[in-house]
Amino acid sequence: MFTFDKLGLPVLGLRGLEADLSEEERAIQENVHRFARDVMRPIGKKLDAMTPEEVVAEGSPLHDYMAQMYASGILDLGALDSMSDLEKSRIFPLIFEELGWGDSGLAIATLASAIPAFTAYGTGDPEIIERFGSLPGCWLATQPDKGSEIVDMDATNVHPGTQQLKGNLSVRKDGNEYVINGQSSAWVSYGPLAQTAMAYLPCDYGDGLFKEGTQGLNWVGIMIPLDSPGVSRGKPLDKIGQRALPQGGLFFDDVRIPEKYAIATGDKAVGQMMGTLTFANMEMAATFTGVARAAFEHALDYVHERKQGGTAIINHQSVQTRIFSLWQKVEASRALSKHVFSYNYASHGPHVLASVTSKTFVTDTAFQVTSDALQLFGGNGLTKEYPMEKIMRDARAAMIEDGENTVLGLKGVTWLTRWYQDKHNISV
Ligand SMILES: Cc1cc2nc3c(=O)[nH]c(=O)nc-3n(C[C@H](O)[C@H](O)[C@H](O)COP(=O)(O)OP(=O)(O)OC[C@H]3O[C@@H](n4cnc5c(N)ncnc54)[C@H](O)[C@@H]3O)c2cc1C
Repeated sequence: MFTFDKLGLPVLGLRGLEADLSEEERAIQENVHRFARDVMRPIGKKLDAMTPEEVVAEGSPLHDYMAQMYASGILDLGALDSMSDLEKSRIFPLIFEELGWGDSGLAIATLASAIPAFTAYGTGDPEIIERFGSLPGCWLATQPDKGSEIVDMDATNVHPGTQQLKGNLSVRKDGNEYVINGQSSAWVSYGPLAQTAMAYLPCDYGDGLFKEGTQGLNWVGIMIPLDSPGVSRGKPLDKIGQRALPQGGLFFDDVRIPEKYAIATGDKAVGQMMGTLTFANMEMAATFTGVARAAFEHALDYVHERKQGGTAIINHQSVQTRIFSLWQKVEASRALSKHVFSYNYASHGPHVLASVTSKTFVTDTAFQVTSDALQLFGGNGLTKEYPMEKIMRDARAAMIEDGENTVLGLKGVTWLTRWYQDKHNISV
């Protein structure tokens, strides 16, 4: 039982109901927060107002951001990789939330462009690390005709009696090389600027693209230097939210890649792609907790400034209950997001069920929070003079990014019911 000698104010941290942080964790948090406030927010706002072509052009503030991000040491991949699992489970959500609070488009640009480098470190192979470990890259998975099917790489949600689509981009094994032909979707984050790609593609190893006797395809996980002959790029995509995150398609015309860069083949490629999705979805939950928190904080400021009905609007009871509801949703999002980091770094290892649970909940909730926070701004919330409309657009994109939320939920329930049926030794 708790007793209070005196009922004082709660002690709240940057992340609300913050439990104790070590000195090092607090220093990291404050450093990333300053960077998010002083660098990300102003640059993110500028980029939001620019055309996609301007965003990727020479001299764009995006390049300035990337230079400052890498100079800041916030994402020192070698240092992050060498942390213990416990440290990762505590420090990653702390960093990603602050980055999302700063600007989600820039946060995702940083992380998506680091996927090939992260993967290179994961291989532990010095040649791969040397070639891919320090260049900005992209995560190339979706194709014009293969969107949600990429999330469903293991083909558990394919309609009975049908197969996955062949798609528009595939690989053929030819001696000691892989040959790539076709095009990606226009949604490849950082595609217009990436120098490398971590790609998950259907692959013909010599006996066709389809896996014998199944509804699914054969796959390869392959690292691609994008300066290879035969690679070209589409024009950058124009979209409503996360406009600081450049996206665009990549085209491949008989692009030959050495066998060594195929870092996962067959079922291992499916496992590796799901592993990347598991990390990315977990990270999205922390980032969009930061987005929801930003919306909540803006709303809390505004309701103390705006006067209607003879008083600051915070004095109206309906405004108070709405503010409390935003606060609850941000806290619930953070709690689930942190819980999933702890689960994924526990000794029994990560699971896609954990990450889709937090990603879908937090991004759906972030959209509700940003929309409800905008409502508290009245007409001002709809204007470009105030930050709310941009934050709401940014949050909306997250419900489709890294897997559309309904389809991610289908993957989640597949694993949950498989676990249940295995535990009870039943099949239905
Ligand atoms: C901001 C952003 C960033 C992105 N970054 C990348 C990136 O870096 N790399 C990359 O490769 N891709 C990226 N994508 C693409 C993203 O992964 C896809 O948009 C997403 O997987 C959905 O695919 P789709 O858009 O083709 O929609 P579709 O798959 O066509 O889905 C359309 C609708 O059909 C429903 N549906 C589809 N299949 C099923 C099914 N089996 N059962 C039930 N319902 C179904 C979906 O729920 C959805 O509502 C990004 C997208 C966004 C928005």
